[in-house]
Amino acid sequence: MNRSASPAVDTIVAPATPPGDGGIGIVRLSGPQSEALLAGAFHGRSAVAAMVSHHLYHGRLCRADGTAVDDVLAVIMRAPHSYTGEDVAEIHCHGGSQQVRSALDLLLAAGARLARPGEFTQRAFVNGRLDLAQAEAVAALVGARSERAARVALAQLDGRLSRQLHGFAGELRELLLLLEAHIDFPDDDLGLLDRPAAAARAAAVQIAMSDLMVTFDAGRALREGVNVLILGRPNVGKSSLLNALLGEARAIVTAIPGTTRDTLEEQLVLGGFPVRLIDTAGVRDTDDPVEVEGVRRARDKAQAADLLLLVIDMSHSLTREDRMAMALAPPERTILVRNKSDLPVACNLAELAGFPHQVVVSARHGSGLAALEQSVVEHFSESAGGELAEGVVLTERRHREALGTATAAVGCFLAALAAEEPLECLALELREALTALGQITGETTSVAMLEAIFERFCIGK
Ligand code: GDP
Repeated sequence: MNRSASPAVDTIVAPATPPGDGGIGIVRLSGPQSEALLAGAFHGRSAVAAMVSHHLYHGRLCRADGTAVDDVLAVIMRAPHSYTGEDVAEIHCHGGSQQVRSALDLLLAAGARLARPGEFTQRAFVNGRLDLAQAEAVAALVGARSERAARVALAQLDGRLSRQLHGFAGELRELLLLLEAHIDFPDDDLGLLDRPAAAARAAAVQIAMSDLMVTFDAGRALREGVNVLILGRPNVGKSSLLNALLGEARAIVTAIPGTTRDTLEEQLVLGGFPVRLIDTAGVRDTDDPVEVEGVRRARDKAQAADLLLLVIDMSHSLTREDRMAMALAPPERTILVRNKSDLPVACNLAELAGFPHQVVVSARHGSGLAALEQSVVEHFSESAGGELAEGVVLTERRHREALGTATAAVGCFLAALAAEEPLECLALELREALTALGQITGETTSVAMLEAIFERFCIGK
């Protein structure tokens, strides 16, 4: 196992709460000197050495010259039962940034080193408290932008993804052992390798790995959020729909003016997915150069969007501009929104038949919005099959790539097996698959790759 990322273990310190004013600000230490550093600065009723692990104590934080910094709570979490697996101490200051700064300064002056981003989690990984996929889940949980995204990250932190991967690796390792036995003892009484049985086992693993791989689309949507574009000619009710959806949304994050004058971008959570909802100016049939530019932009945005909501006013027959908008919308990536359902229908439904996903709404009265939300969820979770509910979803591009390598290697193994190639060649493919799987959980990840992964974390995590 390649976990020797930091050879000399020193004691690190960092603020664990964000900068600025708050109720409390926490400074965290981890490493062999944690207890001694705390003892040098914290003066409570019991000596630090007598503090019970994982219990909070009230006391005063003082500089080396005895001047008081703050009234604080302190806790020591002794190894190995701590986040990092080392001795960890936390000092809970009053929340002002000055107190946290002073606490940090005095611990640095006493010999602690400022932690690099993600270094606490990296130590947890090095000490075997978490595997790499779980460590990455910590960052995903911190950065989760919806409840659903947080749930998936938590499942990964619980080790559900890791357990699936270990299941695949275990099965492939058994196959490899079997091959190696036949390679090492060809004349023994092992008999010939049962090729059909080996093929069946490898194929089952290959299918399970492919099933996991297809969850990545939904995982990426949860992790990074999705771009949903509202498209349609002027007056079909695009702005009304945007406002109705924003009114429905429980978590409106921000309202960002679009990068161009003619678009408006809002962030909200739709069916558990973080969504950037982009309202276009409207598709207009015109010679006005500004409007033509607007249509060109709408076309570009339609191509880049993960999903389009194509709004049609059902109380009107279709116009040339409606047809222009329809031409911009790829049916498989589009939900056709039949708006103004509160009015008598004047639109010929047969003309909309090219769009398989349709919902009937009234943006004005707010009806049909739940069905629209459901339709959006289905679009992004379709690819994930039932896995989304189970919580085992691939969210990291790195994981998808490694799993792709492993699946391809098992495919080569199966082909080589069918072609009756020498056992040594078969073993090579299985070893490659195992190496790729190990990169996800961290058994075979290079030091450089580990550094790159932990650098993406925030300070103090
Ligand atoms: P946009 O130009 O596509 O953004 O359209 P707007 O949202 O500005 O709406 C155009 C007009 O249609 C406004 O007068 C809205 O009040 C009206 N409208 C929008 N949605 C509905 C609806 O569901 N029913 C009815 N009856 N009117 C609607």
